[in-house]
Amino acid sequence: MDDRQGVLASSVAATHAATLVLDTHVDIPWPDTPHPATATRRQVDYGKMRAGGMDAAIFIAYVRQGTLTDEGRAQAADKAMRMLRAIAAAADGAPSGAVFCRDAGEMEAAFAAGRTIAMSAVENGYAMGRDLTRIADWRALGAVYLTLTHDGHNDLADSARPRADLGDLPAIHGGLSPLGRSAIRELNRVGMLVDVSHTSRDAMLQAAAWSHTPVVATHACCRALCDHPRNLDDTQLDALRETGGLVQITAVQAFLRRQPEGGRALASVADYCDHVDYAVKRIGIEHVGLSSDFDGGGGLTDWADASQTAHVSAELLRRGYTAADLRLLWSGNFLRLMRIAANVARA
Ligand SMILES: [Zn+2]
Repeated sequence: MDDRQGVLASSVAATHAATLVLDTHVDIPWPDTPHPATATRRQVDYGKMRAGGMDAAIFIAYVRQGTLTDEGRAQAADKAMRMLRAIAAAADGAPSGAVFCRDAGEMEAAFAAGRTIAMSAVENGYAMGRDLTRIADWRALGAVYLTLTHDGHNDLADSARPRADLGDLPAIHGGLSPLGRSAIRELNRVGMLVDVSHTSRDAMLQAAAWSHTPVVATHACCRALCDHPRNLDDTQLDALRETGGLVQITAVQAFLRRQPEGGRALASVADYCDHVDYAVKRIGIEHVGLSSDFDGGGGLTDWADASQTAHVSAELLRRGYTAADLRLLWSGNFLRLMRIAANVARA
């Protein structure tokens, strides 16, 4: 280690200690879920979080898109509820060493107390079926956001990646459905954020305009740098800036670097930070955050699991971001949105 690296290492450590480091999208294995307080093969468990200086993670109750039938919807709803309960139970006090948080205030108090923080969210509005009351049930279990779709259209919105095996046409709603608009109103009412990752471009732009709370893409990258349907183009990024929303750049190789036909291009923290730089230059640092999509497809050569999280901070500091910038990127912007969501819910 030369002097410059030594200075960087100590500033990374100091910055991490003073920063609430939040990863806004982490999947969980299911149904066999090794307890995160134990040493697991998961990319994110509490030990790896502590080793890497990751203070908080939003764990995802994810349901894969299935057929738009009553039976399919009911199974999805049941699965999401069980996963939300499991995420909260796994962070329940003493045995885990972690704490489950439901809002910005609880998170900041837990960070001040030096605790490892778990939160939850639901990925795929399919888990709601056509029953808007599910949303209040999720919020009661602590969920902080809903990802409107996954891959494949659902009752709420069109997906950025239609599923041919489900018989999907390119679009079925032209963006959001009337039910999708009602779901966003209900998310606004209960204080959950609207996640526009995975939705079609039209659905994303409509959601940004329709929601009373700024929307967030909790795990996505920049289409100008990598032409992938899951990424946001400049018009979409601009819509986030105009509505006060957020893009949480994510660590999925195929979103970061164009993948060669039949091959694989590995992506690194440097590629990841290129997308952060691009989004910051385009829409301002107040509209950009960080996520991994670990245990759901995320992982870089040098950010392979939560224990390597400081590598991201080191690269950002090396590129000239300040400690204050890192606080915004790692959690400040997302906390701001959570507070707006809570205020909208109270109004
Ligand atoms: Zn996802």
